[in-house]
Amino acid sequence: MSTETNKPATGLYRIDPAWTELAEQVTTVAERRRRSIVSPIDGAELGQVPVCEPDDVWAAAGRARAAGQRWAARSVSHRCGVMERFKDLLVANRDDLLDLVHAENGKARVAAFEEFLDAVLTAGYYAAKAPSVLRRHRRAGALPILTSTYVRAVAKGVVGVIAPWNYPLTLAISDAIPALLAGNGVVIKPDSATPLTALLLVKLVRRAGLDPDLLQVVTGPGKELGRPIIEASDYLMFTGSTATGRQVAAQCGERLIGCSAELGGKNALLVLADAPLGRTVEGAVQASFANSGQLCISIERIYVARPRFEEFAGAFAARTADLKLGGGGGWDIDMGPLISQTQLDKVADHVDEAVAKGATVLTGGRRRPDLGQLFFEPTVLAGVTDDMAVAKEETFGPVVALYPVDSDEEAIELANRTDYGLNASVWTGSPAHGRWVGEQLRAGTVNINEGYAAAFGSTDAPMGGFGISGLGRRHGPEGLIKYTELQTVATERVMAIGPPPWLSRQTYAAVMTVGTKYLHTTLAELIRKVTTP
Ligand code: NAD
Repeated sequence: MSTETNKPATGLYRIDPAWTELAEQVTTVAERRRRSIVSPIDGAELGQVPVCEPDDVWAAAGRARAAGQRWAARSVSHRCGVMERFKDLLVANRDDLLDLVHAENGKARVAAFEEFLDAVLTAGYYAAKAPSVLRRHRRAGALPILTSTYVRAVAKGVVGVIAPWNYPLTLAISDAIPALLAGNGVVIKPDSATPLTALLLVKLVRRAGLDPDLLQVVTGPGKELGRPIIEASDYLMFTGSTATGRQVAAQCGERLIGCSAELGGKNALLVLADAPLGRTVEGAVQASFANSGQLCISIERIYVARPRFEEFAGAFAARTADLKLGGGGGWDIDMGPLISQTQLDKVADHVDEAVAKGATVLTGGRRRPDLGQLFFEPTVLAGVTDDMAVAKEETFGPVVALYPVDSDEEAIELANRTDYGLNASVWTGSPAHGRWVGEQLRAGTVNINEGYAAAFGSTDAPMGGFGISGLGRRHGPEGLIKYTELQTVATERVMAIGPPPWLSRQTYAAVMTVGTKYLHTTLAELIRKVTTP
């Protein structure tokens, strides 16, 4: 990406003068150097943010911790009320958010809307769900009637959230929402390329009534700020590459703090022999090229039942070639540029190497400098072999490879031939058979007759990766309870557990041996066991 600053914008998007004030949401302990944030569409400057240093992280975490103690003492319904107001503010500021995401990340408006929707859904879901997930739950006690036991969820303290650039809106805030509702203070570190979106969200959530100290944001390079964030936090929520995920998980391990890591994927889509062509092509195009393929759950491998291969490949390539590329902010644009020169070069290298080794380009395959420095065509490859990087490595761009297969079993075997395990998609005329196939796939989310949105949009259900695609889960009760420590409180009535003074230890042991054998047996089962000869 161009680092040129003060370059005039090309008029493809709206620059809001208020963006220059967003840096005020960041508090530093001393005057810091500023970094220009430039648009990948045309390299124009959108604003500047401070380059925070480790001392700023420690101070931010200290403020968040102190505020967290006050916040955790408030009722869950009070916390949910703030999140409800935040949800309403998201909706009221939709267009400002979409404009900023488009300008800062380059993505098409329709892709920005997808993440806006996810943030609204997540805020609403957790505001509604938190009271039941976080309330005290009774559990069976050590001794029936004599032991009364309950479990309570206690806030961890400070949660660090390290977010990537590809979904700068939802991935900056949607993991912070449950962390806050659980009673924690939060320190967010957005990616260096897209901090302004995170700062606008922080501004909105503060406007919703959140104590400004409770949600802190630090801007700067992950390599320098990652370790202090982990050292100052009690839990880390990381989203990014598998390589960085390994490093941060190891650092969390040194401190024995928990972490969730949402990492990369090499996601497969299966077109079974009975798949309806039109719907499958449309869904596969969306699944492969939404957000210019810069989506952790996007599809990079498509396995097609051999009898349908030619028909599918032709229709899929034709529909792909139809996608509208551009830097404009209108709803008609399908794909924007890539985020950076590094990302563009990686995508181009994957395609060039594949072609040099014998792959065929069915459509796309070229940079598009006529549209802007960072554009690359949506690309469909065939004839990809295992010795090509594009076959195994995550491209994280608008490139997908098609492979013919001779049976569902072969498709399953090839789809599972990866250490990743994030998302998968199965297309078929028989959903029941599709679910059977889906359950054979080693992926955290499986979509039948959808690419990724059905499972990701099911906010009540957990989302995360098998294998090197991650640790832990976001969404659902699992995505909230992970931000708490579970405390068991057990009260013993009548007497302590152990041999009473009036019973010999041998008799106590005999009674307890029989008793524990039937401890978790229902009364009906017990009667049946005793009365059945
Ligand atoms: P990245 O790992 O380079 O960066 C992600 C974040 O980590 C950024 O905020 C970065 O500043 C920070 N970071 C970088 N080095 C760090 C370090 N040493 N310690 C702590 N933090 C550090 O990832 P990226 O390449 O920018 O993002 C793309 C990757 O993210 C892809 O692999 C994609 O699949 C993955 N991703 C996964 C999900 C998911 O939910 N599973 C979602 C989005 C993106």
